[in-house]
Amino acid sequence: MSLAARLPAAAALWVLLGTCVDLPRAGAADAYATGALPQAPQADPASRFAFEGQMIQGGAVIGVAPKGATLLTLDGASVPIALDRRFLIAFDRDAGPSATLVATLGNGQQVRKQLTIAPRAWDISRLNTLPKYPVPRPEFERVRPGELAQINAARRMQSDSTGWRQAMLWPVVGRISTLFGSQRIYAGEPGSYHSGIDIARPTGTVVLAPADGVVVLAAAKPFTLEGNLLMVDHGAGLNSAFMHLSKINVRVGEHVRRGQPIGAVGMTGRATGPHLHWSLKWRDSRIDPLLLAGPMPVAE
Ligand SMILES: [Zn+2]
Repeated sequence: MSLAARLPAAAALWVLLGTCVDLPRAGAADAYATGALPQAPQADPASRFAFEGQMIQGGAVIGVAPKGATLLTLDGASVPIALDRRFLIAFDRDAGPSATLVATLGNGQQVRKQLTIAPRAWDISRLNTLPKYPVPRPEFERVRPGELAQINAARRMQSDSTGWRQAMLWPVVGRISTLFGSQRIYAGEPGSYHSGIDIARPTGTVVLAPADGVVVLAAAKPFTLEGNLLMVDHGAGLNSAFMHLSKINVRVGEHVRRGQPIGAVGMTGRATGPHLHWSLKWRDSRIDPLLLAGPMPVAE
């Protein structure tokens, strides 16, 4: 029997089962229009979501929205779609096991996709001692609110940069001294986890832009914790922060290119030795730079 001859019967069975039984989870049936009876898998891949990247805690994914999509939401929050239908989504270090993407097409139909987010095993060290928090000095209490206000204002600056589409490069190549997400638990009390990745390099080592972007913060003087802080917006809600710099070469509003020198490693702010702290955020989600830049190349 030819495939064509078998198709109508198969399609009829599909509709019948579809009313009371879950659709078979064959790849092609992953995405389908809701609000109507489930239909046979559509041959046109443009009618479905496509993804590049890892659906994992701390990971980011570039997606392609179904053809005709005019609106997109991730767990109810709107996500912009570029003209080529690409979009960026990312998953916080502590993201739950699933998320829902919904594309609304021009004709009102919705294409829904349940995403499964793989959990990570973070580097957690349990100590029996209590944390040695330095007693905040009056000076810190006085200047910190202003520093946080600058950081928050920078995060609200959305540029139209397309750096989010690029494969990120490492801003410096060297030994990773602290991984993203690592955390200490003091006598059962979790301390805050490490929000970025630390790369140990001597003071003065040139720091490169990992992707195209627009400078949204270039500290005029060292911040109490972050030291000389530089923040670059890569568009689509993704931004980088570089901390403890000895030098910043760029100004707020400046467009930087992937691979362009933007500053130099240092140990300003709270740092026990010279290193680059690089953190990435997508909206309010903290992202692991290692997943976006890939394995650290071997240093020369
Ligand atoms: Zn760090």
